[in-house]
Amino acid sequence: LLDIGHDLGRATLNARTFEREHALVAELQALDTYKSQLIATVSHELKSPLTTVRGHLEMLQTGEVEIGDEAHASLTAIGRASQRMSRVIEDLLLLRQVGESAAPLDPGPVAVDELVEDALAMSALAIRTKRLHVDLQAPERPVVALGEHDELATVMHNLVSNAVKYTPSGRAVDVRLTYADDGTDEVVVVVHDEGLGISAEDQERLFTEFFRSTNPEAVEQPGTGLGLAIVKRIVERHHGSIAVTSELGRGSTFTIRLPGAPPHSSARAADAPLP
Ligand code: ADP
Repeated sequence: LLDIGHDLGRATLNARTFEREHALVAELQALDTYKSQLIATVSHELKSPLTTVRGHLEMLQTGEVEIGDEAHASLTAIGRASQRMSRVIEDLLLLRQVGESAAPLDPGPVAVDELVEDALAMSALAIRTKRLHVDLQAPERPVVALGEHDELATVMHNLVSNAVKYTPSGRAVDVRLTYADDGTDEVVVVVHDEGLGISAEDQERLFTEFFRSTNPEAVEQPGTGLGLAIVKRIVERHHGSIAVTSELGRGSTFTIRLPGAPPHSSARAADAPLP
């Protein structure tokens, strides 16, 4: 009887612990939903007045209203600050869109080689201005991943634009696309740069929201510190992986693996059946 009493006592304790843990999980989930809603509300609330400010600024800057030199300098500073705020808002909204409480993916075949070409085209001006040596290596056949087009476009854009942004003039940026040779049909994207590099200490926090390196040369560049956090969330929700190797002063290599699309699928518009 004593033994039974003991067992009953232990079972009651276990049940209580379970209840407490259950309540804690529910509380954390509620907090996460609250955080996500807060980001959305704050971003939306900030977005429209900021658009108004920037519109008026543009009007003043284009000379529709006459202003002195000093006022011009202030306008430029205000313009830059509001642009930065816009970027933070855009990134916060994007982070929420791909965060834990995001809608599930509806994956389809995506031509990653095209996304990389688009990303390079978006950075074309900086590439030209900095006289960077850019090389894209890809197999003859299209490199097709299974995923969500716009999210994977964001991944390629963020990685390529970082490589361009954090690489000094005259150096190289290479992108290599392959299929994994380990029996999986995974797509491998390697973005390598001969840029500033990232210290071992910084590498540990690289994918955390709002992390920006303390390296003074890197801080000079505009940024929100949200780009890589977004990249990581997107890659993980695609069941892919991301890894970085880097050496301060020598450069960085970001390697992404994404699930490949089945061989019969195609992401090219030209291959799509005619209506
Ligand atoms: P952002 O570039 O907007 O600051 P990211 O999340 O994309 O934000 O990157 C976080 C930080 O990681 C950057 O501020 C920069 O210090 C560092 N970083 C990212 N990519 C590179 C790179 N290719 N080379 C050197 N540093 C990088």
